Amino acid sequence: MQTSPHYIEIDGAMGEGGGQVLRTALSLSICTGKPFRITQIRANRKKPGLQRQHLTATRAARDISGAYIEGDEIGSMELSFIPYQVQSGHYFFSVGTAGSTMLVLQTVLYPLLLATGESHLILKGGTHNLLAPPYDFLARVFLPILNRMGAQVTVTLERYGFYPAGGGELKVHIIPAQHLKGIRLMERGHIIARQAKALITGIPDHVAQRELQRVAKKLKWSKECLHYCPLPSDQGPGNVLLLEIQSEHVTEIFTGFAQRGVRAEAVADGAIKMAKEYLAAEVPVGEHLADQLLIPLALAGEGEFTTVTPSRHTLTNIEVIQRFLSVPITQTQQKDNVWVIRAGGS
Ligand code: ATP
Repeated sequence: MQTSPHYIEIDGAMGEGGGQVLRTALSLSICTGKPFRITQIRANRKKPGLQRQHLTATRAARDISGAYIEGDEIGSMELSFIPYQVQSGHYFFSVGTAGSTMLVLQTVLYPLLLATGESHLILKGGTHNLLAPPYDFLARVFLPILNRMGAQVTVTLERYGFYPAGGGELKVHIIPAQHLKGIRLMERGHIIARQAKALITGIPDHVAQRELQRVAKKLKWSKECLHYCPLPSDQGPGNVLLLEIQSEHVTEIFTGFAQRGVRAEAVADGAIKMAKEYLAAEVPVGEHLADQLLIPLALAGEGEFTTVTPSRHTLTNIEVIQRFLSVPITQTQQKDNVWVIRAGGS
């Protein structure tokens, strides 16, 4: 008689109740070999259930781990996942819409990092999406830290992909690390460089110019820091403003994503506000990087960083991680908008 596996039960509506709950569960299920069942997937979103990006991430997780899976359909709000064994190799994952390739990568990255051989991935879809890490954040902020923890991951942007056209392409090469080392990011150190890049294609030039003028006015960044970056005309339409702050110990990027009906000044103001808050808090790790560093720290079993007030993504991600891993993760407030997040014992 076959015994049914012991599933970790996840309520997809918990906390933030978005796609990250699912992606973290998929990733850690493969890393730990623990099956899980999730209900109410993305219940807190306008269009709940699995959308293209989440379905692609789910099937990518299945492909790299030989998992048995039930419920992998568009709109599905329930899923069962029993991983087998992670297999390194060459993989191609296509979202099929402008959905974020970065978030699909987030799902398979950790299992493939702990695999025995190298992996080469090609991902197609969006590369600069609202509410997701843009390519630049992955390449210049997140991966340098992960690589300091012992990983060797390199990424190449072959084509830009913006909403709604998509069509972006990302290449990833993963050399596994037997074990991730913990990291301490307690101080930012001196600021070494600042740059604002306005990427633009298929949209009138003045939009990018106005974004950069706004940065000059509100952040008082000099002309040398402002970069107007036209992209190939067949890779749009699209526009993002990236504010990069490179410090001694960390680089951070704050992004404004152009949207139909939103003025260039308002797009810039969103990114400027985040950058100002980060600069005022004098911490190394910004809001988005904080929720993305939790899985590597938990897998390493130790590490800590100073950050701004934890977001709901961060708090929810901690809850999901702790369903799979027994590493304690604590958050301690130091002062207004300054917190220490620590994984592991002391
Ligand atoms: P949904 O929640 O609608 O299912 P989703 O699947 O896109 O959407 P979320 O659960 O919202 O996912 O997770 C989004 C992830 O993208 C989080 O890790 C968040 O920190 C990250 N993120 C969002 N915006 C940015 C940004 N501007 N820079 C870097 N990372 C970002």
